Amino acid sequence: MLSTMQDVPLTVTRILKHGMTIYGRSQVTTWTGEEPQRRTFAETGERATRLANALRDELGVDGDQRVATLMWNNAEHLEAYLAIPSMGAVLHPLNLRLPPEQLVWIVNHAADRVVIANGSLLPLLAPLLPHLKTVEHVVVSGPGDRSLLDGCAPRVHEYEDLIADRPTTYDWPELDERAAAAMCYTSGTTGDPKGVVYSHRSLYLHSMQVNMAESMGLTDKDTTLVVVPQFHVMAWGLPHATFMTGINMLMPDRFLQPAPLAEMIEREKPTHAAAVPTIWQGLLAEVTAHPRDLSSMASVTIGGAACPPALMEAYDKLGVRLCHAWGMTETSPLGTMAHPPAGLTPEEEWPYRVTQGRFPAGVEARLIGPAGETLAWDGESAGELEVRGPWIAGSYYGGAAGEDFRPADKFSEDGWLKTGDIGVISTDGFLTLTDRAKDVIKSGGEWISSVELENALMAHPDVAEAAVVAVPDDRWSERPLATVVLKEGATADYEELRAFLSGRIAKWQLPERWALIPAVPKTSVGKFDKKVIRKQYADGELD
Ligand code: ADP
Repeated sequence: MLSTMQDVPLTVTRILKHGMTIYGRSQVTTWTGEEPQRRTFAETGERATRLANALRDELGVDGDQRVATLMWNNAEHLEAYLAIPSMGAVLHPLNLRLPPEQLVWIVNHAADRVVIANGSLLPLLAPLLPHLKTVEHVVVSGPGDRSLLDGCAPRVHEYEDLIADRPTTYDWPELDERAAAAMCYTSGTTGDPKGVVYSHRSLYLHSMQVNMAESMGLTDKDTTLVVVPQFHVMAWGLPHATFMTGINMLMPDRFLQPAPLAEMIEREKPTHAAAVPTIWQGLLAEVTAHPRDLSSMASVTIGGAACPPALMEAYDKLGVRLCHAWGMTETSPLGTMAHPPAGLTPEEEWPYRVTQGRFPAGVEARLIGPAGETLAWDGESAGELEVRGPWIAGSYYGGAAGEDFRPADKFSEDGWLKTGDIGVISTDGFLTLTDRAKDVIKSGGEWISSVELENALMAHPDVAEAAVVAVPDDRWSERPLATVVLKEGATADYEELRAFLSGRIAKWQLPERWALIPAVPKTSVGKFDKKVIRKQYADGELD
Protein backbone atom coordinates (compact mmCIF):
# COMPACT_ATOMS: atom_id res chain seq x y z
CA MET A 1 0.00 0.00 0.00
CA LEU A 2 1.34 3.45 -0.84
CA SER A 3 0.84 6.37 1.51
CA THR A 4 -1.80 9.03 1.06
CA MET A 5 0.79 11.83 1.35
CA GLN A 6 1.54 14.42 -1.32
CA ASP A 7 4.64 13.63 -3.33
CA VAL A 8 6.36 17.01 -3.18
CA PRO A 9 9.99 17.02 -4.39
CA LEU A 10 12.61 18.26 -1.92
CA THR A 11 14.48 20.90 -3.91
CA VAL A 12 16.80 23.87 -3.48
CA THR A 13 14.11 25.93 -5.21
CA ARG A 14 11.89 25.44 -2.16
CA ILE A 15 14.72 26.55 0.11
CA LEU A 16 15.23 29.70 -1.99
CA LYS A 17 11.53 30.64 -2.03
CA HIS A 18 11.16 29.91 1.66
CA GLY A 19 14.19 31.91 2.81
CA MET A 20 13.44 35.00 0.72
CA THR A 21 9.84 35.25 1.92
CA ILE A 22 9.48 33.77 5.40
CA TYR A 23 12.91 35.01 6.49
CA GLY A 24 13.14 38.01 4.16
CA ARG A 25 14.56 40.22 6.92
CA SER A 26 17.51 37.97 7.82
CA GLN A 27 20.85 39.36 6.69
CA VAL A 28 23.95 38.39 4.74
CA THR A 29 26.89 40.56 5.73
CA THR A 30 30.05 40.39 3.62
CA TRP A 31 33.34 41.72 5.00
CA THR A 32 35.02 44.09 2.55
CA GLY A 33 37.94 45.44 4.55
CA GLU A 34 36.03 48.72 4.76
CA GLU A 35 32.32 49.18 5.42
CA PRO A 36 30.69 45.69 5.36
CA GLN A 37 28.19 45.02 2.58
CA ARG A 38 24.74 44.13 3.97
CA ARG A 39 21.81 42.53 2.17
CA THR A 40 18.59 40.97 3.38
CA PHE A 41 17.49 37.48 2.39
CA ALA A 42 14.67 39.14 0.41
CA GLU A 43 17.22 41.12 -1.62
CA THR A 44 19.51 38.10 -1.94
CA GLY A 45 16.64 35.96 -3.19
CA GLU A 46 15.62 38.62 -5.69
CA ARG A 47 19.19 38.98 -6.97
CA ALA A 48 19.44 35.16 -7.25
CA THR A 49 16.27 35.22 -9.32
CA ARG A 50 17.74 37.88 -11.60
CA LEU A 51 20.94 35.83 -11.89
CA ALA A 52 18.93 32.79 -12.99
CA ASN A 53 17.21 34.89 -15.67
CA ALA A 54 20.57 36.23 -16.86
CA LEU A 55 22.17 32.79 -17.00
CA ARG A 56 19.28 31.43 -19.04
CA ASP A 57 18.46 34.37 -21.31
CA GLU A 58 21.87 35.93 -21.89
CA LEU A 59 24.27 33.00 -21.50
CA GLY A 60 21.93 30.27 -22.69
CA VAL A 61 22.40 27.99 -19.70
CA ASP A 62 20.08 25.07 -20.24
CA GLY A 63 19.16 21.76 -18.60
CA ASP A 64 21.76 20.31 -16.26
CA GLN A 65 24.70 22.30 -17.62
CA ARG A 66 27.44 22.99 -15.08
CA VAL A 67 28.07 26.52 -13.81
CA ALA A 68 31.30 26.80 -11.85
CA THR A 69 32.20 29.38 -9.22
CA LEU A 70 35.72 30.54 -8.37
CA MET A 71 34.80 32.72 -5.42
CA TRP A 72 35.37 33.53 -1.79
CA ASN A 73 32.55 33.28 0.74
CA ASN A 74 30.36 36.28 -0.03
CA ALA A 75 26.80 37.35 -0.86
CA GLU A 76 27.23 36.86 -4.61
CA HIS A 77 28.49 33.33 -4.09
CA LEU A 78 25.39 32.67 -1.99
CA GLU A 79 23.25 34.00 -4.88
CA ALA A 80 24.95 31.47 -7.18
CA TYR A 81 24.28 28.71 -4.62
CA LEU A 82 20.58 29.51 -4.74
CA ALA A 83 20.06 30.42 -8.41
CA ILE A 84 21.98 27.70 -10.24
CA PRO A 85 20.42 24.57 -8.68
CA SER A 86 16.95 26.19 -8.60
CA MET A 87 16.96 26.70 -12.37
CA GLY A 88 17.90 23.02 -12.86
CA ALA A 89 21.59 23.63 -13.67
CA VAL A 90 24.45 22.21 -11.58
CA LEU A 91 26.50 24.42 -9.26
CA HIS A 92 30.19 23.54 -9.23
CA PRO A 93 32.29 25.45 -6.65
CA LEU A 94 36.00 25.32 -7.54
CA ASN A 95 38.67 25.04 -4.87
CA LEU A 96 40.79 28.11 -5.50
CA ARG A 97 43.72 26.66 -3.58
CA LEU A 98 44.22 23.65 -5.82
CA PRO A 99 47.27 23.48 -8.09
CA PRO A 100 46.42 24.97 -11.53
CA GLU A 101 46.73 21.65 -13.38
CA GLN A 102 44.18 20.04 -11.01
CA LEU A 103 41.75 22.92 -11.51
CA VAL A 104 42.04 22.53 -15.29
CA TRP A 105 41.46 18.78 -15.00
CA ILE A 106 38.40 19.28 -12.81
CA VAL A 107 36.77 21.96 -14.98
CA ASN A 108 37.28 19.86 -18.10
CA HIS A 109 36.02 16.72 -16.39
CA ALA A 110 32.87 18.45 -15.13
CA ALA A 111 32.49 20.18 -18.54
CA ASP A 112 31.73 23.53 -16.90
CA ARG A 113 30.14 25.94 -19.39
CA VAL A 114 30.28 29.10 -17.30
CA VAL A 115 32.66 30.28 -14.59
CA ILE A 116 31.54 32.98 -12.15
CA ALA A 117 34.72 34.41 -10.62
CA ASN A 118 35.65 37.05 -8.09
CA GLY A 119 37.74 39.82 -9.62
CA SER A 120 40.45 39.25 -7.02
CA LEU A 121 40.90 35.71 -8.39
CA LEU A 122 41.44 36.67 -12.03
CA PRO A 123 45.24 36.33 -11.69
CA LEU A 124 44.54 32.66 -10.93
CA LEU A 125 41.83 32.16 -13.57
CA ALA A 126 43.29 34.03 -16.56
CA PRO A 127 46.26 31.68 -17.24
CA LEU A 128 43.97 28.65 -16.98
CA LEU A 129 41.42 29.83 -19.56
CA PRO A 130 43.27 28.64 -22.70
CA HIS A 131 43.16 25.12 -21.22
CA LEU A 132 39.49 25.08 -20.22
CA LYS A 133 37.88 23.28 -23.15
CA THR A 134 34.20 23.76 -22.33
CA VAL A 135 34.05 27.23 -20.74
CA GLU A 136 32.19 29.69 -22.99
CA HIS A 137 31.47 32.50 -20.51
CA VAL A 138 33.27 34.13 -17.60
CA VAL A 139 31.24 36.33 -15.24
CA VAL A 140 33.29 38.64 -13.00
CA SER A 141 32.12 39.93 -9.63
CA GLY A 142 33.78 42.35 -7.21
CA PRO A 143 37.04 44.31 -7.34
CA GLY A 144 39.94 43.16 -9.52
CA ASP A 145 41.85 43.90 -12.70
CA ARG A 146 39.60 42.99 -15.66
CA SER A 147 42.36 43.65 -18.19
CA LEU A 148 43.82 40.27 -17.22
CA LEU A 149 41.05 38.74 -19.34
CA ASP A 150 41.83 40.83 -22.45
CA GLY A 151 41.93 38.62 -25.50
CA CYS A 152 40.64 35.51 -23.73
CA ALA A 153 38.41 33.18 -25.74
CA PRO A 154 35.32 32.93 -23.50
CA ARG A 155 32.97 35.94 -23.45
CA VAL A 156 33.45 38.10 -20.37
CA HIS A 157 30.49 39.60 -18.45
CA GLU A 158 30.29 41.96 -15.52
CA TYR A 159 28.17 40.33 -12.77
CA GLU A 160 26.30 43.47 -11.72
CA ASP A 161 25.61 44.55 -15.32
CA LEU A 162 24.50 41.06 -16.22
CA ILE A 163 21.84 40.82 -13.52
CA ALA A 164 20.87 44.53 -13.45
CA ASP A 165 17.73 44.70 -15.61
CA ARG A 166 16.49 41.15 -15.36
CA PRO A 167 13.01 40.11 -14.24
CA THR A 168 12.49 39.54 -10.52
CA THR A 169 10.41 36.43 -11.12
CA TYR A 170 11.33 33.13 -12.76
CA ASP A 171 9.21 30.20 -13.79
CA TRP A 172 11.23 27.76 -11.70
CA PRO A 173 10.97 24.26 -13.20
CA GLU A 174 9.45 21.37 -11.21
CA LEU A 175 12.61 19.35 -10.70
CA ASP A 176 13.12 15.70 -9.87
CA GLU A 177 14.45 15.71 -6.32
CA ARG A 178 17.02 13.07 -7.30
CA ALA A 179 18.46 15.28 -10.05
CA ALA A 180 21.94 16.78 -9.70
CA ALA A 181 22.03 20.15 -7.91
CA ALA A 182 25.71 20.69 -7.11
CA MET A 183 29.06 18.96 -7.29
CA CYS A 184 32.38 19.03 -5.42
CA TYR A 185 35.58 17.18 -6.18
CA THR A 186 37.64 15.41 -3.53
CA SER A 187 41.12 16.82 -3.32
CA GLY A 188 42.80 13.96 -5.13
CA THR A 189 45.41 13.05 -2.55
CA THR A 190 45.69 9.75 -4.39
CA GLY A 191 45.03 9.66 -8.14
CA ASP A 192 42.76 12.05 -10.00
CA PRO A 193 40.18 14.08 -8.05
CA LYS A 194 36.76 12.40 -7.84
CA GLY A 195 33.49 14.22 -8.42
CA VAL A 196 30.71 13.90 -5.84
CA VAL A 197 27.33 15.03 -7.19
CA TYR A 198 24.74 16.14 -4.63
CA SER A 199 21.04 15.85 -5.45
CA HIS A 200 18.31 18.35 -4.53
CA ARG A 201 16.99 15.78 -2.10
CA SER A 202 20.37 15.18 -0.45
CA LEU A 203 20.98 18.93 -0.05
CA TYR A 204 17.50 19.47 1.35
CA LEU A 205 17.71 16.65 3.89
CA HIS A 206 21.26 17.58 4.84
CA SER A 207 20.21 21.21 5.41
CA MET A 208 17.45 20.04 7.73
CA GLN A 209 19.96 17.94 9.64
CA VAL A 210 22.41 20.86 9.95
CA ASN A 211 19.60 22.84 11.56
CA MET A 212 18.59 20.20 14.07
CA ALA A 213 19.51 20.93 17.68
CA GLU A 214 21.68 17.79 17.77
CA SER A 215 23.77 19.31 14.96
CA MET A 216 24.34 23.07 14.61
CA GLY A 217 20.81 23.93 15.78
CA LEU A 218 20.75 27.61 14.76
CA THR A 219 17.77 29.93 14.22
CA ASP A 220 17.07 33.44 12.91
CA LYS A 221 18.29 34.80 16.25
CA ASP A 222 21.78 33.58 15.33
CA THR A 223 24.50 34.84 13.05
CA THR A 224 26.94 32.30 11.68
CA LEU A 225 30.45 33.24 10.57
CA VAL A 226 31.05 30.96 7.60
CA VAL A 227 34.82 30.59 7.50
CA VAL A 228 34.79 27.13 5.95
CA PRO A 229 35.02 27.92 2.23
CA GLN A 230 32.03 27.51 -0.03
CA PHE A 231 34.33 25.37 -2.21
CA HIS A 232 35.01 22.96 0.70
CA VAL A 233 32.07 20.54 0.77
CA MET A 234 29.51 23.31 0.19
CA ALA A 235 30.67 25.25 3.28
CA TRP A 236 29.42 22.28 5.32
CA GLY A 237 25.87 22.88 4.13
CA LEU A 238 25.51 26.31 5.74
CA PRO A 239 24.51 28.37 2.67
CA HIS A 240 21.38 26.28 2.15
CA ALA A 241 20.71 25.55 5.83
CA THR A 242 20.69 29.27 6.65
CA PHE A 243 18.07 30.02 3.99
CA MET A 244 15.90 27.30 5.48
CA THR A 245 15.65 28.80 8.97
CA GLY A 246 16.68 32.41 8.46
CA ILE A 247 20.09 32.21 10.15
CA ASN A 248 21.99 35.47 9.53
CA MET A 249 25.32 35.03 7.77
CA LEU A 250 28.66 36.76 8.17
CA MET A 251 30.84 36.09 5.13
CA PRO A 252 34.58 36.81 5.41
CA ASP A 253 35.26 37.07 1.64
CA ARG A 254 39.06 37.00 1.17
CA PHE A 255 39.83 38.23 4.70
CA LEU A 256 40.69 34.86 6.21
CA GLN A 257 43.81 35.82 8.15
CA PRO A 258 43.59 35.69 11.97
CA ALA A 259 43.66 39.49 12.48
CA PRO A 260 40.66 40.40 10.27
CA LEU A 261 38.77 37.34 11.56
CA ALA A 262 39.29 38.55 15.13
CA GLU A 263 38.16 42.04 14.15
CA MET A 264 35.01 40.88 12.38
CA ILE A 265 34.05 38.66 15.33
CA GLU A 266 34.47 41.50 17.81
CA ARG A 267 32.57 43.97 15.63
CA GLU A 268 29.79 41.85 14.14
CA LYS A 269 29.32 39.50 17.13
CA PRO A 270 28.40 36.24 15.38
CA THR A 271 26.90 33.63 17.70
CA HIS A 272 28.37 30.67 15.77
CA ALA A 273 31.19 29.91 13.36
CA ALA A 274 32.47 26.94 11.38
CA ALA A 275 36.03 26.13 10.27
CA VAL A 276 38.85 23.57 10.33
CA PRO A 277 41.22 23.37 13.36
CA THR A 278 44.09 25.30 11.73
CA ILE A 279 41.88 28.40 11.49
CA TRP A 280 41.12 28.20 15.22
CA GLN A 281 44.80 27.60 16.04
CA GLY A 282 45.73 30.75 14.10
CA LEU A 283 43.00 32.82 15.72
CA LEU A 284 44.02 31.65 19.18
CA ALA A 285 47.62 32.78 18.60
CA GLU A 286 46.27 36.13 17.35
CA VAL A 287 44.00 36.83 20.33
CA THR A 288 46.69 35.67 22.75
CA ALA A 289 49.01 38.33 21.34
CA HIS A 290 46.29 40.99 20.77
CA PRO A 291 43.29 40.30 23.03
CA ARG A 292 39.84 40.58 21.44
CA ASP A 293 36.40 39.71 22.72
CA LEU A 294 35.25 36.52 20.96
CA SER A 295 32.63 35.59 23.54
CA SER A 296 29.61 36.32 21.30
CA MET A 297 30.45 33.01 19.58
CA ALA A 298 28.61 30.70 21.94
CA SER A 299 29.33 27.71 19.73
CA VAL A 300 31.78 26.83 17.01
CA THR A 301 31.63 23.81 14.73
CA ILE A 302 35.13 22.43 14.24
CA GLY A 303 35.92 19.53 11.93
CA GLY A 304 37.58 18.40 8.75
CA ALA A 305 40.50 17.17 10.86
CA ALA A 306 40.81 16.02 14.46
CA CYS A 307 40.39 18.83 16.98
CA PRO A 308 43.26 18.76 19.53
CA PRO A 309 41.72 18.67 23.04
CA ALA A 310 44.16 21.41 24.12
CA LEU A 311 42.56 23.72 21.56
CA MET A 312 39.11 23.00 22.95
CA GLU A 313 40.32 23.80 26.46
CA ALA A 314 41.92 27.06 25.36
CA TYR A 315 38.66 28.23 23.74
CA ASP A 316 36.62 27.14 26.78
CA LYS A 317 38.66 29.73 28.70
CA LEU A 318 37.65 32.39 26.16
CA GLY A 319 33.97 31.51 26.62
CA VAL A 320 33.76 29.82 23.20
CA ARG A 321 32.61 26.20 23.05
CA LEU A 322 34.12 24.19 20.21
CA CYS A 323 31.88 21.35 19.05
CA HIS A 324 33.68 18.58 17.21
CA ALA A 325 32.22 17.25 13.95
CA TRP A 326 33.32 14.63 11.44
CA GLY A 327 32.50 14.42 7.75
CA MET A 328 33.84 14.20 4.22
CA THR A 329 33.09 15.46 0.73
CA GLU A 330 31.28 12.16 0.14
CA THR A 331 29.03 12.70 3.20
CA SER A 332 27.78 16.21 2.28
CA PRO A 333 29.62 16.49 4.87
CA LEU A 334 27.72 16.11 8.15
CA GLY A 335 28.52 12.63 9.55
CA THR A 336 28.73 13.11 13.32
CA MET A 337 28.67 15.87 15.93
CA ALA A 338 29.92 15.65 19.50
CA HIS A 339 27.15 16.93 21.78
CA PRO A 340 27.48 15.01 25.07
CA PRO A 341 24.43 13.15 26.40
CA ALA A 342 22.10 15.08 28.68
CA GLY A 343 22.48 15.42 32.42
CA LEU A 344 26.28 15.38 32.77
CA THR A 345 28.60 17.69 34.68
CA PRO A 346 31.28 19.55 32.67
CA GLU A 347 33.85 16.98 33.86
CA GLU A 348 31.66 14.12 32.73
CA GLU A 349 30.99 15.83 29.41
CA TRP A 350 34.67 16.21 28.55
CA PRO A 351 35.39 12.62 27.34
CA TYR A 352 32.39 12.93 25.01
CA ARG A 353 33.39 16.34 23.65
CA VAL A 354 36.77 15.10 22.45
CA THR A 355 35.22 12.25 20.44
CA GLN A 356 34.05 12.85 16.87
CA GLY A 357 30.48 12.51 18.14
CA ARG A 358 27.21 10.74 17.42
CA PHE A 359 25.58 9.86 14.10
CA PRO A 360 22.27 11.52 13.23
CA ALA A 361 19.35 9.33 12.19
CA GLY A 362 20.19 9.86 8.50
CA VAL A 363 23.65 8.30 8.80
CA GLU A 364 23.96 4.57 9.42
CA ALA A 365 27.39 3.36 10.48
CA ARG A 366 29.36 0.16 10.88
CA LEU A 367 32.96 -0.72 11.73
CA ILE A 368 34.73 -3.29 9.58
CA GLY A 369 37.69 -5.28 10.91
CA PRO A 370 40.79 -6.41 9.02
CA ALA A 371 39.15 -9.68 7.88
CA GLY A 372 36.03 -7.91 6.65
CA GLU A 373 34.05 -8.74 9.80
CA THR A 374 31.59 -6.28 11.34
CA LEU A 375 32.92 -5.16 14.73
CA ALA A 376 31.04 -4.55 17.96
CA TRP A 377 30.36 -1.04 19.29
CA ASP A 378 32.27 -1.68 22.49
CA GLY A 379 34.62 1.30 22.60
CA GLU A 380 37.59 -1.01 21.95
CA SER A 381 37.29 -2.83 18.64
CA ALA A 382 38.99 -0.64 16.03
CA GLY A 383 38.09 -0.90 12.36
CA GLU A 384 37.34 1.08 9.22
CA LEU A 385 34.22 3.21 9.43
CA GLU A 386 31.63 2.59 6.71
CA VAL A 387 28.47 4.69 6.34
CA ARG A 388 25.30 4.90 4.28
CA GLY A 389 22.35 7.24 4.13
CA PRO A 390 20.38 9.71 1.99
CA TRP A 391 23.17 12.32 1.90
CA ILE A 392 26.06 9.86 1.47
CA ALA A 393 27.63 9.34 -1.99
CA GLY A 394 26.93 6.02 -3.69
CA SER A 395 29.34 6.54 -6.60
CA TYR A 396 31.58 9.13 -8.28
CA TYR A 397 30.82 11.22 -11.35
CA GLY A 398 32.19 9.64 -14.52
CA GLY A 399 32.54 12.81 -16.55
CA ALA A 400 31.20 13.49 -20.03
CA ALA A 401 32.81 10.36 -21.42
CA GLY A 402 32.02 7.79 -18.79
CA GLU A 403 29.60 6.04 -16.50
CA ASP A 404 29.65 6.94 -12.80
CA PHE A 405 32.04 4.62 -11.02
CA ARG A 406 32.35 2.85 -7.68
CA PRO A 407 35.97 1.96 -6.93
CA ALA A 408 36.23 -1.10 -4.67
CA ASP A 409 38.46 0.75 -2.18
CA LYS A 410 35.74 3.42 -1.69
CA PHE A 411 32.49 1.41 -1.79
CA SER A 412 31.64 -1.98 -0.31
CA GLU A 413 29.92 -4.60 -2.43
CA ASP A 414 26.65 -3.88 -0.64
CA GLY A 415 26.90 -0.16 -1.37
CA TRP A 416 28.29 1.41 1.84
CA LEU A 417 30.87 4.20 1.63
CA LYS A 418 34.29 3.15 2.93
CA THR A 419 35.53 6.24 4.70
CA GLY A 420 39.21 5.28 5.02
CA ASP A 421 38.98 6.39 8.67
CA ILE A 422 39.90 4.02 11.49
CA GLY A 423 38.12 4.26 14.81
CA VAL A 424 36.04 2.79 17.59
CA ILE A 425 32.40 3.36 18.56
CA SER A 426 31.32 3.33 22.20
CA THR A 427 28.37 1.35 23.51
CA ASP A 428 26.37 4.61 23.57
CA GLY A 429 27.19 5.36 19.92
CA PHE A 430 30.03 7.91 20.10
CA LEU A 431 32.67 7.63 17.37
CA THR A 432 36.35 8.13 18.17
CA LEU A 433 38.65 8.20 15.16
CA THR A 434 42.19 7.11 15.81
CA ASP A 435 43.57 7.83 12.37
CA ARG A 436 43.14 7.78 8.64
CA ALA A 437 44.04 4.32 7.36
CA LYS A 438 46.77 5.86 5.22
CA ASP A 439 48.29 7.88 8.11
CA VAL A 440 48.38 5.23 10.83
CA ILE A 441 51.93 4.14 11.73
CA LYS A 442 52.49 0.39 11.45
CA SER A 443 55.31 -0.40 13.84
CA GLY A 444 56.34 -4.01 14.49
CA GLY A 445 52.88 -5.36 13.69
CA GLU A 446 51.15 -2.84 16.01
CA TRP A 447 49.43 0.41 15.12
CA ILE A 448 50.43 3.82 16.44
CA SER A 449 47.87 6.60 16.08
CA SER A 450 49.46 9.71 14.58
CA VAL A 451 46.51 11.76 15.89
CA GLU A 452 47.04 10.61 19.48
CA LEU A 453 50.71 11.64 19.34
CA GLU A 454 49.81 15.00 17.78
CA ASN A 455 47.15 15.72 20.41
CA ALA A 456 49.56 14.86 23.22
CA LEU A 457 52.27 17.08 21.71
CA MET A 458 49.91 20.00 21.17
CA ALA A 459 49.04 19.88 24.87
CA HIS A 460 52.62 21.07 25.63
CA PRO A 461 52.56 24.82 26.33
CA ASP A 462 55.47 25.50 23.93
CA VAL A 463 53.96 23.68 20.94
CA ALA A 464 51.92 25.60 18.37
CA GLU A 465 51.38 22.71 15.95
CA ALA A 466 52.58 19.13 15.61
CA ALA A 467 52.16 16.65 12.78
CA VAL A 468 53.30 13.04 13.02
CA VAL A 469 53.95 10.81 10.00
CA ALA A 470 55.25 7.30 9.42
CA VAL A 471 58.77 6.90 8.08
CA PRO A 472 60.27 3.62 6.86
CA ASP A 473 62.30 1.69 9.41
CA ASP A 474 64.42 -1.41 8.75
CA ARG A 475 63.61 -3.12 12.01
CA TRP A 476 60.02 -2.07 12.78
CA SER A 477 58.80 -1.46 9.22
CA GLU A 478 57.58 2.05 10.17
CA ARG A 479 58.27 4.46 13.03
CA PRO A 480 56.77 7.87 13.87
CA LEU A 481 58.47 11.11 12.90
CA ALA A 482 57.25 14.06 14.96
CA THR A 483 57.42 17.43 13.23
CA VAL A 484 56.85 20.30 15.63
CA VAL A 485 56.23 24.02 15.29
CA LEU A 486 57.13 25.90 18.47
CA LYS A 487 55.25 28.98 19.67
CA GLU A 488 57.07 32.28 19.21
CA GLY A 489 59.89 32.62 21.73
CA ALA A 490 59.43 29.03 23.03
CA THR A 491 62.52 26.94 23.75
CA ALA A 492 61.45 23.32 24.34
CA ASP A 493 63.80 20.75 22.78
CA TYR A 494 63.27 17.12 21.75
CA GLU A 495 64.39 15.77 25.11
CA GLU A 496 61.80 17.84 26.91
CA LEU A 497 59.01 17.00 24.45
CA ARG A 498 59.84 13.33 24.65
CA ALA A 499 59.79 13.45 28.44
CA PHE A 500 56.44 15.27 28.30
CA LEU A 501 55.00 12.55 26.07
CA SER A 502 56.34 9.69 28.12
CA GLY A 503 53.76 10.21 30.86
CA ARG A 504 50.91 10.12 28.33
CA ILE A 505 51.88 7.68 25.59
CA ALA A 506 53.06 4.04 25.74
CA LYS A 507 56.86 3.91 25.71
CA TRP A 508 57.19 1.87 22.52
CA GLN A 509 55.13 4.50 20.65
CA LEU A 510 57.39 7.43 21.55
CA PRO A 511 59.03 8.96 18.48
CA GLU A 512 62.79 8.81 18.25
CA ARG A 513 62.82 10.93 15.10
CA TRP A 514 62.06 14.64 15.50
CA ALA A 515 62.17 17.77 13.39
CA LEU A 516 61.51 21.37 14.36
CA ILE A 517 59.89 23.04 11.38
CA PRO A 518 58.76 26.65 10.75
CA ALA A 519 55.19 25.68 9.75
CA VAL A 520 53.23 22.49 9.07
CA PRO A 521 52.47 22.26 5.32
CA LYS A 522 48.70 22.54 4.74
CA THR A 523 46.38 21.09 2.07
CA SER A 524 44.07 23.17 -0.11
CA VAL A 525 41.46 23.12 2.65
CA GLY A 526 43.83 23.89 5.52
CA LYS A 527 44.52 20.41 6.87
CA PHE A 528 47.97 19.05 7.75
CA ASP A 529 49.45 17.82 4.46
CA LYS A 530 51.09 14.59 5.55
CA LYS A 531 51.91 13.62 1.97
CA VAL A 532 54.15 16.68 1.69
CA ILE A 533 55.73 16.07 5.11
CA ARG A 534 56.51 12.47 4.18
CA LYS A 535 57.95 13.57 0.84
CA GLN A 536 60.11 16.29 2.38
CA TYR A 537 61.40 13.77 4.89
CA ALA A 538 62.13 11.21 2.19
CA ASP A 539 63.97 13.93 0.28
CA GLY A 540 65.98 14.64 3.42
CA GLU A 541 64.83 18.25 3.70
CA LEU A 542 63.80 17.91 7.32
CA ASP A 543 66.83 16.03 8.57
P1 ADP B 1 40.28 15.62 1.99
O1 ADP B 1 40.49 14.15 1.73
O2 ADP B 1 40.75 16.51 0.95
O3 ADP B 1 40.72 16.05 3.37
P2 ADP B 1 37.57 15.84 2.88
O4 ADP B 1 37.39 17.23 3.32
O5 ADP B 1 36.43 15.14 2.27
O6 ADP B 1 38.71 15.81 1.87
O7 ADP B 1 38.17 15.02 4.09
C1 ADP B 1 37.48 14.03 4.78
C2 ADP B 1 38.39 13.42 5.80
O8 ADP B 1 38.81 14.37 6.77
C3 ADP B 1 37.76 12.33 6.62
O9 ADP B 1 37.72 11.11 5.93
C4 ADP B 1 38.66 12.29 7.84
O10 ADP B 1 39.84 11.55 7.60
C5 ADP B 1 39.04 13.73 8.01
N1 ADP B 1 38.22 14.34 9.05
C6 ADP B 1 37.13 15.11 8.91
N2 ADP B 1 36.64 15.51 10.10
C7 ADP B 1 37.44 14.95 11.05
C8 ADP B 1 37.45 14.96 12.48
N3 ADP B 1 36.58 15.65 13.20
N4 ADP B 1 38.41 14.24 13.10
C9 ADP B 1 39.32 13.53 12.40
N5 ADP B 1 39.36 13.50 11.07
C10 ADP B 1 38.44 14.19 10.39
